[in-house]
Amino acid sequence: MQHNVSELIRRRRQELGLTQAALAKRIHVSAKAVSKWETAAGLPDAALVPALSEALGVSADSLLLGQIRQNPPDGGNMKRIKFYQCPDCGNMLTATGKAELSCCGRRLSPMQIRPADDAHRLTITDIETEKLLTWRHPMEKGHHLTFLAAVGYDCVHIVRLYPEGAQEHRLPRIPWAKYFCGCTEDMTTLYQSNP
Ligand SMILES: [Zn+2]
Ligand SMILES: [Zn+2]
Repeated sequence: MQHNVSELIRRRRQELGLTQAALAKRIHVSAKAVSKWETAAGLPDAALVPALSEALGVSADSLLLGQIRQNPPDGGNMKRIKFYQCPDCGNMLTATGKAELSCCGRRLSPMQIRPADDAHRLTITDIETEKLLTWRHPMEKGHHLTFLAAVGYDCVHIVRLYPEGAQEHRLPRIPWAKYFCGCTEDMTTLYQSNP
């Protein structure tokens, strides 16, 4: 088990073209810690798993199992997807490669992914063949969620949200999807919720 985890970390890091130091910096640990995991001298602390799986572009349970399940051979492109939102008009843009995007005369920076706090957490439940996303976040004119996104290995589903709208939305089921939302208060942050 531990050997598989070490293998997976090294393989994904190399596929992403990262040095041990570069990966370590992304998840705020020492390069020595990464080296320890890759040589099976230790396992990443459970608290680091979300950040490490994010940095490696694998799901947390793949990381824990040391294997990537149901990952199609040419899949995984969407793991690199970046979201951009124009603070002036709310326009949503995405890119999977390097891109320089602008809207309303200003250059847009990719939104930073952050684990959702209580206010921005989505509750995700199975309803028949769909996923029901609900939230308690206000949907008022000045403060509301701006969009929802479900990102799978090979597809992404984005829904624009508007003030006075419902606090729920149904999406088709996407295997191993990650769920995100944006909020009017901070257009530079993408909040990630786990199913
Ligand atoms: Zn704009
Ligand atoms: Zn908010």
